[in-house]
Amino acid sequence: MLNRQGRPTEAGESSEALAGTFTGNRALIIEEPLIFEIGRPEVSGVDLPEAPKVGHRLGALERRRPVGLPGLAEPEAMRHYVRLSQKNFGIDSGMFPLGSCTMKHNPRLNEKMARLPGFADLHPLQPRATVQGALKLMDMLAQALLELTGMEAVALSPKAGAHGELCGMMAIKAALAARGEGHRSTVLVPNSAHGTNPATAALIGFHVASVPARPDGTLDPRDVADHLNADVAAIMLTNPNTCGLFERDVVRIAEAVHEAGALFYADGANFNAIVGKVRPGDLGVDAMHINLHKTFSTPHGGGGPGAGPVVLSKALAPFAPVPFLRRDGERLALVEHTAEAGAAQPFGRMASFHGQMGMFVRALAYILSHGGDGLRQASEDAVLSANYLKAALADVMSVSFPNRPAMHEVLFDDEWLKDSGVTTLDVAKALIDEGFHPMTVYFPLVVRGAMLIEPTESESKASLDLFIATLRDIALSIRAGETARFAGAPYFAPRRRLDETRAARSPVLRWVKPAAE
Ligand SMILES: *Cc1c(COP(=O)(O)O)cnc(C)c1O
Repeated sequence: MLNRQGRPTEAGESSEALAGTFTGNRALIIEEPLIFEIGRPEVSGVDLPEAPKVGHRLGALERRRPVGLPGLAEPEAMRHYVRLSQKNFGIDSGMFPLGSCTMKHNPRLNEKMARLPGFADLHPLQPRATVQGALKLMDMLAQALLELTGMEAVALSPKAGAHGELCGMMAIKAALAARGEGHRSTVLVPNSAHGTNPATAALIGFHVASVPARPDGTLDPRDVADHLNADVAAIMLTNPNTCGLFERDVVRIAEAVHEAGALFYADGANFNAIVGKVRPGDLGVDAMHINLHKTFSTPHGGGGPGAGPVVLSKALAPFAPVPFLRRDGERLALVEHTAEAGAAQPFGRMASFHGQMGMFVRALAYILSHGGDGLRQASEDAVLSANYLKAALADVMSVSFPNRPAMHEVLFDDEWLKDSGVTTLDVAKALIDEGFHPMTVYFPLVVRGAMLIEPTESESKASLDLFIATLRDIALSIRAGETARFAGAPYFAPRRRLDETRAARSPVLRWVKPAAE
C-alpha cells in the first residue's frame, strides 16, 4: 500500500512496495550503467585514418591484449556524462546544510575571473617577469587575509584546511625548536575538535591531550590551565567551536597558553561566522588556517582542489614555509629556497609549487566584490540564518545548547527521537527524499546523535522556511509513529540506503569484466 506521497504505509513494505518501471528509469531520470558496461572498444566518436604500421622497440614488453578502453559514439558519450551529472547534487542544485563545511554559493563572477586565460593558462615554471600580474594577485589576497585576521604573515601554499593545520603546527614546532624548547611534546585539543586536529598533531609526533568542555559546550580557561605545563607545545582550538558556539573565554585561554610558554593554533574552518566582526590576531592566535573553500566561496570541488592558506603571528612569521612573496623594488618575486630567505628561517616547503592559483583568483574576486562591509554582512547573515532555524525548530527538535546563541551553525542531538525507533541517520535519509542534502550527522561527538545544521548566508528566507517546514513535518511524522517513512528512506533516490560501513571498509573501486559466457 502506498500513501498519497508514494511512500509505503507500513513498516516492512520497503522497495518492493514501490511500483518499478519496465526500464528501471524513473520518469526522465535515467538509469546509467558504468561506461565499461556500455562502451565497445571498436566504437569511436571520431573517424581517424588508419594508423600507419610502425615497428616497435618494446621487445617482450609489447602489450598482448588490447587495453580495453570503452569506446562510445559522440551522442552516447554526451548522454552518459549528462545523465551522470544529473545524479550529482551540489550547492547549485539545492540546499546543502552540512555543518562544519560552509557549503555556500560559489558566485559565477569568481568562476569567470578564474577562467581568464592570463590566470588559467599560467605555468608555475614561467619566468618571473611574465607572471607579475599573478604574483600581484597573490599579494593582494595575502594582504586581504592579513587585514581580516590581524596577523603578521601568510603562507598561501597549503592545499586544504588539514594541510594548513600541518603547516601551522610545523611552524609552531620550528619556533619551539629555535628557542631551545623542542622537548615540548603535548598538544591540547578540546574533545569537540574536528578529527583533523588531533590527527595533525599526532602526525608530526606530538602527544595529544584532550580537554573536556564544560556543560555549556565551551572551554573553561581553568580546565585549560589545569592541563598546561612545561611539556605543552600548543593548544588547537576552533572558534566558533564545532558546536557552533563562540568560545567567549578565548582571550583568557590565549593568555594562559602564552604564559605557559605554549602557542595557540586556531582552526579557522568556522571563520565564516566572524569575518569582519573580530580579528583572530586580536584574540591571541599564533597560527590559523583559512579554508578558502568554506569562508571565501571557492568550490569544495569533489575532493579538490581546495586551498588552506595559514596566517601566522609575529612569533611564527619567520618560520613560514617557502615559497613566499618578497617585494624586489617595483617587482614581486617568490622566495623559493631557504638559502635566499635572509633572516627568515623557513621550516621547509608544503607543496611543489605555490598553491592553488585558481582558488586564489576566486577568493580574491569574492573578497573584492563584497568589500569589507559585504564580508561583514555575509557573516552576520550566516549567523542570523542559523539562529532563525534554531528558533523555528526548538519546540520540535532538541537543541543541544539552547541557552547560548548559535553562531553560523546550530547543533541538535537525538533527544527528540527518544523511544521513537527513528535515528539521526533515518532523519538524514528522509531529508534526501524531500530534496535536501542532509545536515552533518554524528559530529561533533560531544552530543548523542548529533545533527549539525549550517544554512549559510546564501539561502533565502523562502528556502529556509521550506527546510524548517520539512523538518517540522518529519517531527510530526515521528510523533504520529509513522516509522515507515524512515525505515527504508531514501525511497526516491536512484540508489537506496547503502551499507555505509561496508562501503567505507571494503570499497569496490575496480570494474572487473564479467567472464565471457
Ligand atoms: C573542514 C574542517 C577542517 C578541514 O578542512 P579541509 O579543507 O577539509 O581539509 C578542519 N577543521 C574543521 C573544524 C573543519 O570544519
